[in-house]
Amino acid sequence: MESCLGCGALFPPQDGVTHAYMASSPACFAAFNQILAAEYSSALLMGVHRFTVDTWAVQHPGDPSDRRAVQSVGLHLARLCLQLACPISPAETNAAMLDFARHKKTLEPLAPPRAFRMTAADVAPFAGTQQHAQKVRTWAQLTWEDWAEHHGYIRAWLSRHCAHWADLQQ
Ligand SMILES: [Zn+2]
Repeated sequence: MESCLGCGALFPPQDGVTHAYMASSPACFAAFNQILAAEYSSALLMGVHRFTVDTWAVQHPGDPSDRRAVQSVGLHLARLCLQLACPISPAETNAAMLDFARHKKTLEPLAPPRAFRMTAADVAPFAGTQQHAQKVRTWAQLTWEDWAEHHGYIRAWLSRHCAHWADLQQ
């Protein structure tokens, strides 16, 4: 078995492509794509699609000297925080991300957690099944909790740059 350099998930070694700046093993990237494929083919599963994208992204932070990687981690953590705090529609979630992206230059590198309790290896076997959505929700929640050290930073960033978040805090 080979450990993913991003999330630590164990998969049988395999060759293949990986993402440009979200660093992972080829097997973990393939598992992520398997989960995405199930979501693209089901209107129901599209409801958790953004949790999948954000969760996998923040488990694969990549090179902290690469601005794209730093911004990706910050933006996906911020959207994960927002989605977990309050259910918002996919359209609102996308709008929030576009809004965040205008402020991405302000994001600082964040040291990732030493380990993640749940990974794509725990979700991919359930891709497209009745348990898919619940697995993804649990994966998202646990991963956000694993990043606890930086919750204060992300919430403060949201307070400055997200009107929707500011409204929630009232
Ligand atoms: Zn991984």
